[in-house]
Amino acid sequence: MADLRRLDELLRAEAGDAGCSAGEAILDAYVELELAGEDPARVFPGTAIHLQSCPGCRADHDGLLEAARRFADVTPE
Ligand SMILES: [Zn+2]
Repeated sequence: MADLRRLDELLRAEAGDAGCSAGEAILDAYVELELAGEDPARVFPGTAIHLQSCPGCRADHDGLLEAARRFADVTPE
């Protein structure tokens, strides 16, 4: 089973998961790119991969995105 676990770690490393270390600063920039119609996965590929596998960070991201959209909605002309 040791080999299997090692393979799992290798695959995870190859996937480029940035981990939970991304933090709010990167999530902020990530959401800004999304709102600007850009592809944030090209700028923060590790974060994009991590968001797919980490419910906690995805919830943070979703909250930021929703707040940003709500804020954009009430922006005066
Ligand atoms: Zn995370």
